[in-house]
Amino acid sequence: MDRYHATSGFTPRLFGIAPAALVGLDKILQKEGTVLKKCTLPRVFFLILAWAISSGATAEVSVSPGGVVRWPGAGIDRCGQAGEVWDADGDACWYPIDLLASEGDLQLSRWRQGRKETTNVRVSPYPYEVQHITLEDDSQVNLSAADLARVREENQRIGALWALSTPRRFELPLSAPLESLPEGGRFGSRRFFNNQPRSPHTGADYSAAAGEPVLAVADGMVVLADDFFFSGGSVFLDHGAGLISMYFHLRELAVEQGSEVRRGEVIGSVGQTGRATGPHLHLGLRWRGARVDPSLLLAPLDQIPTISE
Ligand SMILES: [Zn+2]
Repeated sequence: MDRYHATSGFTPRLFGIAPAALVGLDKILQKEGTVLKKCTLPRVFFLILAWAISSGATAEVSVSPGGVVRWPGAGIDRCGQAGEVWDADGDACWYPIDLLASEGDLQLSRWRQGRKETTNVRVSPYPYEVQHITLEDDSQVNLSAADLARVREENQRIGALWALSTPRRFELPLSAPLESLPEGGRFGSRRFFNNQPRSPHTGADYSAAAGEPVLAVADGMVVLADDFFFSGGSVFLDHGAGLISMYFHLRELAVEQGSEVRRGEVIGSVGQTGRATGPHLHLGLRWRGARVDPSLLLAPLDQIPTISE
């Protein structure tokens, strides 16, 4: 749970006085406390200081790569990051942080009655485990030229989905993709197949019996439903506002490209098609192109790192 832990604090801003200098001053005042107690001037100074700290505060939140940050506030119109701008979701901006986002500070923006506000979040170091997987079928690890060409063509079809821009049709938290949802696993794990490094795991795996119904996490439209080399029987749903959910290794698909689905509707059944070592549901989420941990948006939202208003 630590990886979802939000830290928030305040950055003292007073006439450019560095926090370290303030700490030093604080120590001196404590030391000289008996003398200073009798003097009202330092008290006034401290009152002003306290006011400056609380009113000029910038929130500091840390988030894991693949996490989501929320910045609530009344009357927000739009939200922005890295040159992209989108409409606020009611009284909050949501910022999905890509799994492969670099460690360090990231600037977030929002607009309230035309006035821009900015803050920083800190992307923490990559926290996920290393996973070694052994596959008997080596052709799924060292691809033939024909398979490589197939994968490239599939990746182009899939990649085109991240740019979709349709009206928002989802509610958070999302609805569970299985009737009984076990804990999701291995989001972000750095994977070695037959001792060879491969892309990190960009979704969450849920163990389930083959044939178990797979359910849509929100209302949406089927934008891709096909058999793919790595992900096997796959369904991609567009939920609007840049959110795409994907369901991999399905045994059967119950929907076709272009179908409308409702939250909780059956879209297929659990299988182990594609590159999978056993039956399970792989659920992936892209939100405005960012690979985010699905388990974060399936759980109660109080675990989402939140910037104070
Ligand atoms: Zn998976």
